[in-house]
Amino acid sequence: MNSKNSNHQGIGMTSQRTRDRLIQRLIDQGIDNQLVLDVMRRTPRHLFVDEALAHRAYEDIALPIGFGQTISQPYIVAIMTQRLLDAGMPNSVLEIGTGCGYQTAILANIFPQVYTVERIEALHKIAKKRLTDLELFNVQFRHTDGNGGWPNPGYHFDRIMMTAACTELPDTLIQQLSNQGVMIFPFDDGIDQTLTLVTRTSQGLESEALEKVSFVPLLPGLV
Ligand code: SAH
Repeated sequence: MNSKNSNHQGIGMTSQRTRDRLIQRLIDQGIDNQLVLDVMRRTPRHLFVDEALAHRAYEDIALPIGFGQTISQPYIVAIMTQRLLDAGMPNSVLEIGTGCGYQTAILANIFPQVYTVERIEALHKIAKKRLTDLELFNVQFRHTDGNGGWPNPGYHFDRIMMTAACTELPDTLIQQLSNQGVMIFPFDDGIDQTLTLVTRTSQGLESEALEKVSFVPLLPGLV
């Protein structure tokens, strides 16, 4: 990421040393994809939260971003991104739930083409501006209900990442996944949420349950 703005370097609780501590924590928790670690090391997470919370931005925790939503915990961002890269470097990724745009920024520094959708217009607009300020130009944003995937019919994505929990995997999303494409999402069975990986093969879908997680729910409609 090109961060000419000295604001991006941060001081004190947002300094490089504080960020390096977070990266060490990710390594200790099993994140070993060097690209993911490098991108997370240089992505200024404190710019994605309210100024009053900036001093907590490099703790490995989710934080509120307003509108009843959260910025995901860094470990979760790292593991979801790493899992999408396990099957090789794809061309395109669709993210459902832009939120503050932090996960989007990580994806944009790794994947050639990023598509992201958000149902809350205010968050969609803020995230779009943030990523433009960070000179991440390989992202297309839409204010739309992610239950319908990317609005243009005929689009297929090599990877799909859903950052809100669903009780049922929307059919449209599976249809928008390329053959051999991989999707990662938190599945809510009514009791627990489990991070789940689905691979689309010519024989159908292969599913793998990963670990227990806690996400905000995937909601219908636009706000
Ligand atoms: N990717 C974010 C996490 C965002 S939290 C990060 O980097 O931290 C989940 C987001 O999903 C919220 O902003 C919420 O509004 C959004 N969301 C929930 N249901 C949705 C839907 N049906 N379509 C699009 N976005 C949705």
